[in-house]
Amino acid sequence: MAKLYFRYGAMNSGKSTALLQAAYNYEERGHSVLLAKPAVDTKGDRHIQSRLGVAREVDYVITGADDSYDLFQRHRAERLAADKLDVSCLLVDEAQFLTDAQVDGLLRIALLEGIPVLAYGIRTDFLTVAFPGSRRLLEVAHSLEELKTICRCGRKAIFNGRLIGDRFTFDGAQVAIDGEEVAYESLCGVCYLQESGGVLGAGRTAGGDRDGDRDRDGGRP
Ligand SMILES: [Zn+2]
Repeated sequence: MAKLYFRYGAMNSGKSTALLQAAYNYEERGHSVLLAKPAVDTKGDRHIQSRLGVAREVDYVITGADDSYDLFQRHRAERLAADKLDVSCLLVDEAQFLTDAQVDGLLRIALLEGIPVLAYGIRTDFLTVAFPGSRRLLEVAHSLEELKTICRCGRKAIFNGRLIGDRFTFDGAQVAIDGEEVAYESLCGVCYLQESGGVLGAGRTAGGDRDGDRDRDGGRP
């Protein structure tokens, strides 16, 4: 039975690199793959960009209103017509930005079409709250795999601190794309708590008003 896989990690844990490697492995053995990503991410436009320097254009972009199952089937049919070769795997980058229904669509691709789906994404936002797509993937994926990266202190990083300039911020919308006005640093839980003044996501709401404690301990030493 084909499965839905969710490979998640903090920022800079090599998700795009792992996705591009997986695509390469399939194609090296003569298989056909489709690459997709949600449209909300403007960081790489239509490209999946590995920090190691490899980039590749996706086959299609998933916008907010798209049915991910129908969209896949359309692109699968086009590929089959062009190459006389059916798709062996769907790879989705930035899967945290999918809607619940779009994640369910990925599960249907695996279950009903027998085609494995590999979704890569960030588990939680800068307030340690799950992205919608990641939460749904954690609920329904057959297989969960953590891609690991290291905090500045050497521990495993599990959270994503948001930086404006060289100061951490705990205020703002859930989605602010890396490289626009903010940057992110992968942090372990201990370092995150030090920067946030001891507050995790349960004490905050993305995009909402705060109680004025932002930046209380938010600056770097
Ligand atoms: Zn740390």
